[in-house]
Amino acid sequence: MAKLLLKNINKVYENKVHAVRDLNIEIHDKEFLVLVGPSGCGKTTTLRMIAGLEDISSGELYIGDRMVNNLEPKDRDIAMVFQNYALYPHMNVYENISFGLRMRKIPKKEVHEMVLNIAGILDIEDLLTRKPAQLSGGQRQRVALGRAIIREPQVFLMDEPLSNLDAKLRVQMRSEIIKLHNKINTTFIYVTHDQIEAMTMGSRIAIMKDGIIQQIDTPINIYNKPANTFVASFIGSPQMNLLDATVVEQDGELKLAFADAVRCINANQQLVLKKSNYVGKQIVFGIRVENVSLERKGYMLPFRGSVEVIERPGSETYTYISTQLGTIVSKMPIDTNIKIDDNIMVYFDDNKGFMFDKETNCIIR
Ligand code: ATP
Repeated sequence: MAKLLLKNINKVYENKVHAVRDLNIEIHDKEFLVLVGPSGCGKTTTLRMIAGLEDISSGELYIGDRMVNNLEPKDRDIAMVFQNYALYPHMNVYENISFGLRMRKIPKKEVHEMVLNIAGILDIEDLLTRKPAQLSGGQRQRVALGRAIIREPQVFLMDEPLSNLDAKLRVQMRSEIIKLHNKINTTFIYVTHDQIEAMTMGSRIAIMKDGIIQQIDTPINIYNKPANTFVASFIGSPQMNLLDATVVEQDGELKLAFADAVRCINANQQLVLKKSNYVGKQIVFGIRVENVSLERKGYMLPFRGSVEVIERPGSETYTYISTQLGTIVSKMPIDTNIKIDDNIMVYFDDNKGFMFDKETNCIIR
């Protein structure tokens, strides 16, 4: 069993940087957990503490049922793949992959069979006699993966393993790693700052900011039920529109007062605001770009604005609309008929809106 338990883990470096704060995560056996967050939020520090490369300042780390705080890295049954691959330049691919086994004096014939098996899994059979300098970035990455999985670790740690690859190769290696996880059936903990990698690879995602976990959940729940404005705007591209509003009572109904005018909201949202006593208070109204439309289509909450920027990155049109509330972004089909400076109405589907507390930034439920 390779479940992990991180209990109230803290890391304070010697320079007093409190890099990780009260981390509590239970990682299930054979899970693919992604740690994601902006630069400096404590992802690598967390991974290095799990690997045993960094001391834990306080808290307990369990792998299986064993507390491993004081266990040497080599005794933790963990393999780590780094951003820079860390291959031995003077050894060929075969020697790189088999190095750890040879050090452990495993018989040559057994090593040979294992290397061929791993090379088959990673599709690098033709590269075994090449040195790392004679490989492409993607091929080097596969060799680094091979060297790690040949040890059959209980837990696999990966720190931004795709960040040195070009965009196309990154997409390809993303699915290679998912396939690898399915094949070898081991617990994976994967660090990235890339929300697309997190959303596409993780069975669960832990989103970190300033050393603190903001939310841990499945990709779909993170997207549909973000815990706070940080998570809401970190996941999703272009990011969610966040608009300031005040809750007002008019004719016995709760409404949202935006900078330009007062808008009705649906009965469910009224109820939530009433129950949590938000009457007269400021909130942040969040709406994802795909729920902002330039056509009426029964949408609610119309706003007026003028088109500032149009982007067509592929199958969609992103329109940046300047309004009295600030810039609002809409995601529409590629063939949307729109020009710069067009004066338009913007519609939101208010059933798809989120409401956050202005002070705490937490979702209002
Ligand atoms: P990135 O995505 O940039 O790699 P990260 O989320 O992995 O960032 P960490 O490398 O874990 O972040 O760093 C967390 C914080 O700890 C940062 O403020 C960083 O400057 C600090 N830090 C990291 N390593 C050390 C160290 N050895 N000594 C002191 N402070 C450190």
